[in-house]
Parts: sequence; C-alpha cells; structure tokens
Amino acid sequence: MMLTVDQARARILDAVPRMPAKKCGIVDSLGSILAQSVYAGENIPPFNNSAMDGYALIASDVKTASDENPVTLDVIETIPAGYAPVKQVKNGQATRIMTGAMMPDGADSVVMVEKTKAQESNVDIFDPATKAQNVRFIGESVKTGDLVISTGKFIRPQEIAMLASLNISEVDIYQRPKVAVVSTGDELTQLGEELKPGKIRDSNRYGICAQLIEAGFEVIDMGICDDNVTELEQTLRSALGQADALITSGGVSVGDYDVVKIVLEKLGDINFWRVAMKPGKPQAFGIADGKPIFGLPGNPVSSLTVFELFVRPALFKMAGYTKLLRPTFKAVLETDIKNDTNRVNFMRAIIEKHNGKYHAKITGDQGSGILYSLVLANGLITIPVNQTIHTGETVDAQFFGDAF
Ligand code: AMP
Ligand code: MG
Repeated sequence: MMLTVDQARARILDAVPRMPAKKCGIVDSLGSILAQSVYAGENIPPFNNSAMDGYALIASDVKTASDENPVTLDVIETIPAGYAPVKQVKNGQATRIMTGAMMPDGADSVVMVEKTKAQESNVDIFDPATKAQNVRFIGESVKTGDLVISTGKFIRPQEIAMLASLNISEVDIYQRPKVAVVSTGDELTQLGEELKPGKIRDSNRYGICAQLIEAGFEVIDMGICDDNVTELEQTLRSALGQADALITSGGVSVGDYDVVKIVLEKLGDINFWRVAMKPGKPQAFGIADGKPIFGLPGNPVSSLTVFELFVRPALFKMAGYTKLLRPTFKAVLETDIKNDTNRVNFMRAIIEKHNGKYHAKITGDQGSGILYSLVLANGLITIPVNQTIHTGETVDAQFFGDAF
C-alpha cells in the first residue's frame, strides 16, 4: 500500500508519545516548551505609578495652565522610585515624582518635568493635565488571576522576563527528546579512513545529527553499523536503552539486504511504508519500548527530506510543541516543471522575493543521491502528482530554517 504524505504524517503524529515534564529555572527554560499554564499571582504593575519624571497633582487644579499663565502649586514631597509617598495631595498641592514611583493619594495625574519650573517650595505648571495622564495603573498590564502564558508556548526571552515579573523562578517544561542515530550499510566508511573499492562516506549520520541539533534536540551518535543482524540488533537495542527516539539510515527499501527490516521487526511494532513522495518513498516507522523509531532511506536527499517532513514534526510533538510544521507559502515558478508520477515531488529550490512575490527555481539535477541539490537550495517546492506547472504559475514552497 502506498500512503500519501499527509496520511503517513498523521499516523506518525498520532503514535508518538509526549515527553514528560520537568522543573526548570526560568533562564534555563529558554527555547523549551512550557508544560504548564501560567496564571498571575500578582498584579503588574503592583501599584499605581508615574510613567514620567514630573509632578503628581490634581488635574482640575491646572485646567487653565499655559506658558503665559502658569498655575503655581505647593510642592509637599519628593518620591523617588522605590519609595511610598506619605502625604496626600490636596487642591493647590503637588508632589515631585520620578518614573516608576508610587502615586500619592489625592493626585490623579502627572505633568512631565519639561512642562514645569521649580521654585523653592513651589512649582509652576505650564500645561493643563487630563485625569490619569502619565499614570500607570495597578494591574493594567496583567491582573491577579489572569492566564498569562498557556501550556505549549515556546519560551523566548520575553516569556522569561514576564515569568520573573510574576515572581516565578521555576517552571514546568517538556523534556527534549534524546535521539539516537545509526547509519547502516556495509559500504559506509568512517571519515579519515581509506575509501576502498565500492565504499562511500557516511554523510547521512552527520546530516541527521545536525538536523537534530538545529531543531533543539540532544543527539546520541551510535556510529555506523554493518548490514549484519547480530551487530545491528545489539546497536539498536543499546540505542533504545539510552534514547527517547531512534533514527536509522538506510536499508528500508526493496532490494536491500533486509537486515534493517529484520532487526526493526524484532524490536517492536514497525511498519514499512511506501509514501507517495519523491524523494523518500521507502520509510519505516513504529514504536518499540514506547519509543518511536524512524527508518530513513539511505539516499542522502531522501534522508534529509524525510527528516524535514516527518521526523522533525514528530519530535516537535514529543517535545510539546503545538506548531509542528514549517509555514508554507506560494512561489512563482521560473521554469516549467512536469511531474508525470503518482508521487508528490519535493524539489530543492532557490526561493527569492522579487517585487513582493516569492519566485522559485530548482537547483539542477534532482536525483535523490545528489546532495549538492540541497547545498544550493534554501527551500523545497511541491509539485503535485501528475501535473505540469508552467512558468509563471505558483507552487507551495517552504524554507529550510530561517530564510537566507
Ligand atoms: P539504502 O537505503 O540502504 O538502500 O541506500 C540507498 C543509497 O543511499 C545507496 O546508494 C547507499 O549507498 C546510500 N547511502 C546509504 N546510507 C548512506 C549514508 N549513511 N550516507 C550516504 N549515503 C548513504
Ligand atoms: Mg543499505
């Protein structure tokens, strides 16, 4: 059976478990996902205070104030930030007040210092005031009991500052999955070792580890494993013992030495799928010991693409994210592209904005072994099954990571 991309992804997302939560200091929670909702235990700001350096007064006292006819008020007190006023402002009086200092009782507004001139114990006010002007009110930002940040929120510096202002020093976050990565194949050679006839370098493991780190996950690098049932089974069992999820590369297509299949089937409930996509048709997915296993195809472009479209969203789900997929947008094609297969074609492209519209051109030879097509690309475009998209028509597009 051939699954569509959406069907395969839905099955995976449905099956992956959420990671447990843990307590974390707020600064260390940067980049994690909040596993609790945060309610305000206090008002922000906690008291009425001045938004300006100036004079706290009664607005109705200075209705007629102007440059030519200032209103003179008695100054009864000075309140720096951090101190509480002791005197109440009455008609004809003002209190000198600093930004962030507590408003004195009786005053209803603040005139900024630039619109005043201090005498010995008086002040001339040159501007009329409206009630509440330059006053920041208790709870105007956040009120006690408000839901301030919801569970599932990605924690950025502004969330951390908000937690601190609510007197919260620790929060529950979802643990990030530790992910084990194994490359399989007798042809794979370690970096630095001599390349014997018939052998190639193991590039997938490095690419997958980097994709994991870029997405914020911890990597357990299990190295290269030969196409040997005993060795592979040992390696994968050891990986499952240490990790929250497992990624294998290679050995899931027809015509392989069926070693990966044999071993994965021994480990748990693993399905071998053909997904109606190009690159990346053969894939394995399942759960063993409650941990997801992703069997990626060996071709380098397939491996990176399948990670991007399936593994990354699944690990995001495990990590508690609510937004799992990269945003897609429309891009105008710069050449005709024909897809005469029954598999959606994810092509590597250079996507650039000209005159307010995204334009896409593909990066040369699109074979699933041509890693260079990914090196040149900054995103993927989607050519639907059995369609020709002509120059000037649009396709769905997405960037890898941040646009560049
Ligand atoms: P497989 O999925 O094992 O049938 O491999 C498909 C193709 O990808 C073959 O040409 C392999 O040599 C190649 N390949 C498999 N694993 C890797 C790897 N880790 N790095 C680079 N190429 C690989
Ligand atoms: Mg292989």
